[in-house]
Amino acid sequence: SVLVVGSLNMDLVVAVERHPKPGETVIGGDLQRFPGGKGANQAVAAARLGARVRMVGRVGADAYGAELKRGLEAEGIETAEVAEIEAPTGVALISVSADGQNAIVVSPGANARLRPEDLNPERFAEAAVVVLQLETPLETVRRAAELGRAAGARVLLNAAPAQELPAELLAAVDVLVVNEFEAARVAGAPEPETPEEALALARELARRVPLAVVTLGARGLVWAGTEGEGALPAFKVKPVDTTAAGDAFVGGLAAALAAGEPLEAALRFASAAGALAATRPGAQPSLPTADEVAGLLSR
Ligand code: ADP
Repeated sequence: SVLVVGSLNMDLVVAVERHPKPGETVIGGDLQRFPGGKGANQAVAAARLGARVRMVGRVGADAYGAELKRGLEAEGIETAEVAEIEAPTGVALISVSADGQNAIVVSPGANARLRPEDLNPERFAEAAVVVLQLETPLETVRRAAELGRAAGARVLLNAAPAQELPAELLAAVDVLVVNEFEAARVAGAPEPETPEEALALARELARRVPLAVVTLGARGLVWAGTEGEGALPAFKVKPVDTTAAGDAFVGGLAAALAAGEPLEAALRFASAAGALAATRPGAQPSLPTADEVAGLLSR
């Protein structure tokens, strides 16, 4: 099974003509509410793609927290370790202007209270793959990686949002998944401008982890590690909204690896999931099912 340790957020979205300047008030459209958080998105992606998924995280004892948990449960995800605590549920306050620019304030809330000591080692025992991101405290991510490693699971870290990583965390990671920007931050190198530069960066990262995957949006991905290296072009689709393409990719890779797929097949499966998510608006609503991915793979 897949164990996701990570964030759950409620995304609160308002359309505005233009963003307010400091001190200014603008009137927007009706409030829209979308379940989000990279952890929850990746859990939903893996579940829709056929994995048995358990989530570990924190929400507030409030209406958003209850709604987020219900949403995961409706996807068949086990939420026994998504505890409701005395802190507000994480939210992202998003305004979208008429020219399509987002302005976002994230309040991590309960996500920031997930402590290393909250992680129950027994939960890691049956996991084939442990999936981590960087929207919960770094020391918790590190502890989760170490527990996953100790339990014999494959530890997959999606190093998003971009930041530098302590060596002790990377030492417990088996699969690092980053986009170009995140790859540059983790390696402390300039952003790659060509697929060749991205592959060189993947090789650099693969000196620190057994497998490094650098995703390149519509240009596909490159990977390097102990099983060799390679590049995979993206599936040709008409992108509508690439929000959550990365989360679909990570969830897809976790589901395929948990199912025992060999590496290159798993990367193709994940890439198809990312491509399908890019063809539909929104985050969780855009995440594809296993049948849809099979359709794209056989096309
Ligand atoms: P992130 O959203 O984290 O920046 P990417 O944009 O690199 O991640 O997308 C992750 C993966 O999803 C890509 O490697 C690719 O396989 C797929 N993907 C993303 N955007 C597109 C697109 N426009 N066309 C086809 N595939 C895409």
